[in-house]
Amino acid sequence: MQRLQKVIANAGVTSRRKAEEMISTGRVTVNGEIVRELGTKVDGHAKIEVDGVPIDKQQKTMTFLFYKPRGVISAVSDDKNRKVITDYFADQDARLYPIGRLDYDTSGLILVTNDGQLANLMMHPKFKVDKTYMAKVEGIPTATALAKLRQGVSIHNRKTAEAKVWIENKNQTKNTALVGLTIHEGMNHQVKLMLRDVGFPVMKLKREKVSFLDLTGLQPGEARQLSHEEVDRLY
Ligand code: URA
Repeated sequence: MQRLQKVIANAGVTSRRKAEEMISTGRVTVNGEIVRELGTKVDGHAKIEVDGVPIDKQQKTMTFLFYKPRGVISAVSDDKNRKVITDYFADQDARLYPIGRLDYDTSGLILVTNDGQLANLMMHPKFKVDKTYMAKVEGIPTATALAKLRQGVSIHNRKTAEAKVWIENKNQTKNTALVGLTIHEGMNHQVKLMLRDVGFPVMKLKREKVSFLDLTGLQPGEARQLSHEEVDRLY
């Protein structure tokens, strides 16, 4: 006999924590009866369904952390036939799509999933998911420019929210700097527009972190699947 949430999680349907939520919200039946009790033990022959679909027929959710190279479109298809993120996942038997977007010429961390609930949550402004970028800029931002970026600048006719902004390093000879920014919004071209607004155009942009996730161990073009524990931490 095993705990119901464990059986659901082990079937690959979702994480343990999400399975618990499915149970307590009445979405799970065992042999046709709704079970809301979290500790319920079930045997190997029990017929378990979520939303009326047997667990072995459920679509398995999977989420990958992908190191997008420059020159790849953050989409599932492109009318100009350029390389798209999902080309890297062609061998996966799931309808995966990127959560949000990075510009064609931006590299870095992007999540790729078939978990609609996770995608909504990560994209929703209410959840304020931190995203950290490194931008190589022309010129060396002044203290005034940094202060403006931190307090908010006007792009798309809106003021950006407070941001963490720092100079990672500067090259006086070339007159360039590497600027780190942590923001939680996701307006179109936000980082490029913010830096341009204060007079330091972006030459190169990379996203290094989303929430607690970073690119450790990955090269551009590589991906790894998130564990259920990591997905749980994002929820
Ligand atoms: N901000 C940008 O300007 N571009 C990106 O790709 C991501 C954030």
